[in-house]
Amino acid sequence: MSLNDHWMQRDLKVVWHPCTQMKDHESLPLIPIKRGEGVWLEDFDGKRYLDAVSSWWVNVFGHANPRINQRIKDQVDQLEHVILAGFSHQPVIELSERLVQITPEGLDHVFYADNGSSCIEVALKMSFHYWLNIGKPDKKRFVTLSNSYHGETIAAMSVGDVGLFTDTYKALLLDTIKVPSPDCYYRPEGVSWEEHSRTMFQHMEQTLAEHSHEIAAVIVEPLIQGAGGMRMYHPIYLKLLREACDRYDVHLIHDEIAVGFGRTGSLFACEQAGIRPDFLCLSKALTGGYLPLAACLTTHKVYQAFYDDYPTLRAFLHSHSYTGNPLACAAALATLDIFEQDNVIEANKALATHMGRACAHLADHAHVAEVRQTGMAIAIEMVQDKATKTAYPWQERRGMQVYQHALSRGALLRPLGSVVYFLPPYVITPEQIDFLAEVATEGIEIATRSRVSVATGNPNYPGFRDPG
Ligand SMILES: *Cc1c(COP(=O)(O)O)cnc(C)c1O
Repeated sequence: MSLNDHWMQRDLKVVWHPCTQMKDHESLPLIPIKRGEGVWLEDFDGKRYLDAVSSWWVNVFGHANPRINQRIKDQVDQLEHVILAGFSHQPVIELSERLVQITPEGLDHVFYADNGSSCIEVALKMSFHYWLNIGKPDKKRFVTLSNSYHGETIAAMSVGDVGLFTDTYKALLLDTIKVPSPDCYYRPEGVSWEEHSRTMFQHMEQTLAEHSHEIAAVIVEPLIQGAGGMRMYHPIYLKLLREACDRYDVHLIHDEIAVGFGRTGSLFACEQAGIRPDFLCLSKALTGGYLPLAACLTTHKVYQAFYDDYPTLRAFLHSHSYTGNPLACAAALATLDIFEQDNVIEANKALATHMGRACAHLADHAHVAEVRQTGMAIAIEMVQDKATKTAYPWQERRGMQVYQHALSRGALLRPLGSVVYFLPPYVITPEQIDFLAEVATEGIEIATRSRVSVATGNPNYPGFRDPG
């Protein structure tokens, strides 16, 4: 038995994996990873895989990065963790100062959570509680975009709209207001991203005009709707949204959990619209992909609405056991050092251009509807019919064939439905990008050529829609 098989068998007896139908592993091997270095992951049999998805969008400077490693090692000998209520520590103070400094002017206070979903919960609760504290208890609903994703906890799912993740739990969700997304995949022929995003804003304007008295906040994934299939839109939408939120007295929550820290080409996506949200949620790449940590930044105005004598019960009595963990903060500080010292945002421009060039030919493929890119994220949408953009039935799982082909070639590509994408660590080289493009091209050829037998869905879940 190979070492991989040995670990796989032990794993499957006891580990229940995330976002996985465990039965798939009757035919699909699980890959136990022994070590990582830079963009590479290495399994127990010595096979290497290029991590094209940054291990679920978290890793930006490679695995086992010496600079981040050293910072964590230094920190662990000093202080591994301490309660953050009544106590503080150097890494959390320094990190908060730096986050306030590098984010748009006016985001002055940082509240910590330990993962992206709970950071969304923090922003939603804070927004609602702010309106309550200033005497507007009716403002308690949230506006969200169609096809958005904000995490897996109940309220985070409530403001999300990717059917694959939320439909099953519909009975448990909050009542939110859904507005059609500015997603440029659906722009009519000959219409620019900017025009389309601007046109789609009319839906948002109308919703705010009708409901602002009962709306606490609008929440969006700026520029890229990630889990919804790497769908993209123009910054003009964010600019219009900021103006409208001001006019209607509604908070704007930016979920930059996936797009923050350089993914869209700027350090934060909101910079491209020249705006400041009322709440900015950060996680994923915040620690370079090392440790779970999330930060919700907000304004002094919001902070002030909670600042009062204890018996008024205006305080934000929310906590997580690992709030502001020192090791995670140390990893985040090392990550911010690298951004600064290596001038990463500037250096990424050449890499992004290279990604675009390496994938451009796929736009001509008979079963590719679109190749789209925003900064260091590029997506290739496979379709059944190119002219009408008719999607493959989701049950066919075409993306799975790309995934399997890529593994055989030594790359970790994990398509979202029929959308193949690269969201690589920023330490990737042009040659490695070329390799990924080659593997993706082969994978797409295999996946779109094959006949697929469709397994019948579970009749208990009639609501399932195509995840992308
Ligand atoms: C991943 C993600 C989340 C949830 O973060 P977790 O740490 O996985 O809970 C929320 N919003 C967006 C946009 C994400 O991509």
